[in-house]
Amino acid sequence: MEIATVGGFREVGKNMTAVKIGDEAVILDMGFYLPSLISFEEEGGDRKGITTDGLGKIGAIPDYRVIDAWKQKVKAIALGHCHLDHIGAVPYMSSMFPNAAVFGTPYTLEVLRTMILDEQIKVDNKFKTIQPNASIKVGPNIEIEFISMTHSTLQCTMMAVHTKEGVVLYANDFKFDNYPVVGTKPNIKRLKELGKEGIKALIVESLYAHDERKTPSEKVARELLKDVLLSTENEDNLIVTTSFASHIARLKSIIDFGEKLDRKIVILGRSMQKYILSAENLKLINFSKRAEILGYSRHIKKKLKEIEKQGRSKYLVICTGGQGEPGSVLQRMATNQMPFEFQKEDHIIFCNKVIPAEINIAHRKALEEKLKHKNARLFSNIHVSGHAGREDLRDLIKMTCPEHIIPAHGEQHMLESLGELATELGYDIGRNVHITTDGNIINV
Ligand SMILES: [Zn+2]
Ligand SMILES: [Zn+2]
Repeated sequence: MEIATVGGFREVGKNMTAVKIGDEAVILDMGFYLPSLISFEEEGGDRKGITTDGLGKIGAIPDYRVIDAWKQKVKAIALGHCHLDHIGAVPYMSSMFPNAAVFGTPYTLEVLRTMILDEQIKVDNKFKTIQPNASIKVGPNIEIEFISMTHSTLQCTMMAVHTKEGVVLYANDFKFDNYPVVGTKPNIKRLKELGKEGIKALIVESLYAHDERKTPSEKVARELLKDVLLSTENEDNLIVTTSFASHIARLKSIIDFGEKLDRKIVILGRSMQKYILSAENLKLINFSKRAEILGYSRHIKKKLKEIEKQGRSKYLVICTGGQGEPGSVLQRMATNQMPFEFQKEDHIIFCNKVIPAEINIAHRKALEEKLKHKNARLFSNIHVSGHAGREDLRDLIKMTCPEHIIPAHGEQHMLESLGELATELGYDIGRNVHITTDGNIINV
């Protein structure tokens, strides 16, 4: 069995791994490296109309040359969940693999479809929807199982690739959350069964392998939010909250407490609208019944005018801009690009953290300075991570007992932290723990 570490083994982003047995191969995830895209747009580049080559040159998509010879053999592009660092490159790269269909849970594929429509890209590969906890045979000798997992968006999965040479478990992006706010608990029973049956190789995220803790449940984030919304002096002020657009559980908690405050809830921003409508199309949620959701600038401007006129303390706004990203609703509100003025002591609640890339840190800092200048009250980090801490990772390794471990989803030092954790559990770096980089092939 050959495992190609195409992307995400040197950076947080552009995740892509390929597994080959004989004449059959599958690709697991095909994501964007977002910081490159943001910098590119910052310098005046236009994402619309950029070619696959162009994206490759700026390092925004995985460099697939390492599996060039496998192109015709790839039977499946299987996607674990809908975050852009896992699916973003599909519209630009899937056509390089003409014999592959694209597999994922309904929500993952719905988000991808919306993205393809939005960017007006033609994709010829077939799409095949798989329910969480179901399996599909993708070739004569390969079956992929989608194991239901908790993370920070809907219908996330770990993927188990079943082959005659053993099982590869792909555990990119998870936490073990036994009290999820939306969706089901992680399918730990199935992980333990697979552990008993035998797992050849575990490919696993390393992002917080150094962080000595078990990541708290989304329920904890909900409590943080409850406290900051229901027990601060906010009755005369506008409340503005930000969140990751794809974090449906977080959005639900904000809406729940906004209703408790008897405020009109307004959700502003194209990406918010996209992720919410995708979930509503599948009947997973119904936020439209409880909130006004506006994506287009014209509508957003009109609504903000109305908020000023009708009385700001009657509203709770949920919008994009938690990273301070230029063009987001909050950033435009703060920089007078909207028919709206912040007033003293308006509440800004950041229900997300800054993704630690230099460009995001700089954007967020600039945004906070603007908001402070307007004397708004800032509430930062009302957030709990969706990624496994060191002790979750230890549990995963203990329950799945893989023969080989391949740390993934991180920079070199993160992969090394996971390697060190594996040695605590009796593994040997170089023998059955493979700390690698982008563009390698590992034989197991
Ligand atoms: Zn990820
Ligand atoms: Zn993710």
